Amino acid sequence: MEKHKSLLEQHLLTIFNSSPSPIYVCAGPDSNVIYANEATLNVWGKDASIIGMPFIEALPEIVDQPFPKLVQMVYQSGIPYHTEQDRADLPVGDVLQTYYFKFSYLPLTDDEGKVWGVMCSATDVTELVKAKRELEISQDNLRSMIMQAPVAICILKDPNFIVDIANEKMLEIWGTTTEVIGKPVFEGLPEAKGQGLEELLQGVYQSGKSFTADNHPVELLKNGKLEKVFLKFVYAALRDSKGLINAVIAVATDVTEQVLAQQKKDDFIGIASHELKTPLTSLKASVQLMEKLTAIEPNDRLEKLIAQAGISVNKLAYLVEDLLNVSKLNEGQLTLNKEDFTLSHVMNDCCQHVRLQHGHEIILKGDTTLQVFADMHRIDQVIVNLVNNAVKYAPDSDEIHIIIEKINAFAKVSVRDFGPGIPENKIPHLFQRYYRVDSSGHQISGLGLGLYISNEIVEKHGGQMGVDSKFGEGSTFWFTLPL
Ligand code: ADP
Repeated sequence: MEKHKSLLEQHLLTIFNSSPSPIYVCAGPDSNVIYANEATLNVWGKDASIIGMPFIEALPEIVDQPFPKLVQMVYQSGIPYHTEQDRADLPVGDVLQTYYFKFSYLPLTDDEGKVWGVMCSATDVTELVKAKRELEISQDNLRSMIMQAPVAICILKDPNFIVDIANEKMLEIWGTTTEVIGKPVFEGLPEAKGQGLEELLQGVYQSGKSFTADNHPVELLKNGKLEKVFLKFVYAALRDSKGLINAVIAVATDVTEQVLAQQKKDDFIGIASHELKTPLTSLKASVQLMEKLTAIEPNDRLEKLIAQAGISVNKLAYLVEDLLNVSKLNEGQLTLNKEDFTLSHVMNDCCQHVRLQHGHEIILKGDTTLQVFADMHRIDQVIVNLVNNAVKYAPDSDEIHIIIEKINAFAKVSVRDFGPGIPENKIPHLFQRYYRVDSSGHQISGLGLGLYISNEIVEKHGGQMGVDSKFGEGSTFWFTLPL
């Protein structure tokens, strides 16, 4: 029995010696260090010569720190002491460096139960504490960035969307004060309930997929009155350390003023284009009449002037037509009258004028028998627009190719020119309203509406429109129609 006990003691000592965590034992009222393993000596920055010395003499640098007193306290009271995280400033060379340890001080008793010493073991948790601190600092930084951001931001936590943070700008949009913080957002803003926002937030919370809205109308209480505001916003899911979604961040801008200004502009365009249409029609009729009259009484100078007037009137008619189409689109009045027709027949008709007027050669390729069920007049408008653009923007390209293909369940029409092409960074904007690549030059007339209208027409048919272009190598504008 005695033999086993001494063997066990030897084993324990070996374990202590090789432990990566500091373990030491102080004995007697002066806390003499009677044992300190390698790890202890390392963190203390001492060697074995300190063994036998009172704790304070062995480690004079820590005299003002709580440890000597804790050892004394446990020695006198006989009650163990544990701490999850205590700071210790220990010598590294000539300077003290801060560490954090999880400590355990255990009283050691003799056969009669009398305390003769204290064993201290410690685990270095410095890296853990540092990482926690850094996380706290980055969270604080994020918070202050959100609070000072020039756009409205809020974080809505857990599936009840409790307002965790909302900056000034967000409170301004909501028309509330900080009283909403800590409450479910739809409790703080009851008027926002039932307007679809809850479903959008739920969708983001459940799927993790962000949601973006450009001009989303919402009615909110402002100074006691319900007001319609338009918001541009993004909802994105936030995740915890395990990767589980625990909040949604909303970043928003109030675009009400811009939307209202745009609406006013659209209204004006609608009225102006309607007003222009009638006199333009009679002007066109007059020019045609004059053409007929000069045929009866030939007059070279007059004929030239009338031909020029004819070209200008036609250009004007195109522009007014585009404006009228845009206001129709805005009001949702662009309807389709579908019928069966052969695509290539439309191309032949609509490209006659280009062949005649500009000397470009139009080459029709592909499946010339392909039939579609679509609004012939509108499809004609799209193709004329693409061919006109090819002529306008690629004046030196002698050939313009029109290709008709059947791709799966779609008809695809491509208009290819060999002109200057379009810079890659401009391509995503081409189909936006009023967008022109060279908006400063104005050498080529246009309103930046043709592609926007064409795209809307194609989308209304359930098709798609796009462009393949390499700057310097020409462009291929294409659209598809479901068969
Ligand atoms: P508009 O011709 O009235 O400007 P569009 O919507 O038809 O309006 O075209 C938008 C812009 O796209 C044009 O201003 C032009 O810069 C560019 N674009 C269109 N077609 C071509 C083309 N074939 N080659 C180069 N640029 C083009």
